[in-house]
Amino acid sequence: GEIVVSRLTKVYGNVRAVNDLSFTVTPGRVTGFLGPNGAGKTTTLRMLLNLVTPTAGQATIGGQRYADLTDPLRHVGAVLEASSAHRGRTGINHLRVICAAAGLPRSRADETLAHVGLAPAAGRKFKGYSLGMKQRLGIAAAMLGDPRVLILDEPANGLDPEGIRWMRGFLKSLATEGRTVLVSSHLLSEMQLLADDVVIIAAGRLVRQGPVDQVVGSM
Ligand code: ADP
Ligand code: ADP
Repeated sequence: GEIVVSRLTKVYGNVRAVNDLSFTVTPGRVTGFLGPNGAGKTTTLRMLLNLVTPTAGQATIGGQRYADLTDPLRHVGAVLEASSAHRGRTGINHLRVICAAAGLPRSRADETLAHVGLAPAAGRKFKGYSLGMKQRLGIAAAMLGDPRVLILDEPANGLDPEGIRWMRGFLKSLATEGRTVLVSSHLLSEMQLLADDVVIIAAGRLVRQGPVDQVVGSM
């Protein structure tokens, strides 16, 4: 599913959080969404996911608006903020609860937990998880429906170098499987590690889009 953002605008009072923004995100690549804090990244990602209503413009995923997807969890996975779970719940039970609510087979919880490398911590309680483990659990939750598109908002925030290396390998493997991966960050150094392509915004507007090496090399 290609993501197409077309002339998206979001106005809050007198703030243009997102201002006539257009870009596309290609399947099979990890696309970084880079901009300083307050640039409009979260607002854009939330408009993609139908969590914020655009003032103008539209966004589609695989040619459809998120609101029109018949089975959104199987199309699009989202990792939106420092992921949380009930403190006293184990990692595996957290995923099983989501599977049950979403009508997904219970076996998806085990498969997905293993996929993010958390099988050894399956029976440990969430409150004992490190930040990196919490992020992996959030990613696992987003992947339960085996979506073709994964959208992550600042997933590397606060991770140590080992956590970022893991994130890079994981996201690249998803892209290699032909999935669409859109990952935001306010750090250029993180984008250089994580992304193949980059979309740069500032003050709600597109600054540049292209392969990360070319775009960064020309800055
Ligand atoms: P980023 O994710 O790049 O840090 P955001 O999308 O969170 O940027 O914010 C963009 C701008 O919009 C900021 O000025 C922010 O304060 C403002 N903003 C975001 N959400 C809201 C909201 N719900 N109400 C009012 N202002 C908002
Ligand atoms: P909308 O329903 O227009 O899509 P949101 O769901 O993004 O807006 O935001 C709902 C409310 O949350 C906003 O009206 C605002 O009061 C508050 N809010 C959320 N984030 C921010 C922010 N960064 N700055 C100011 N207010 C915010």
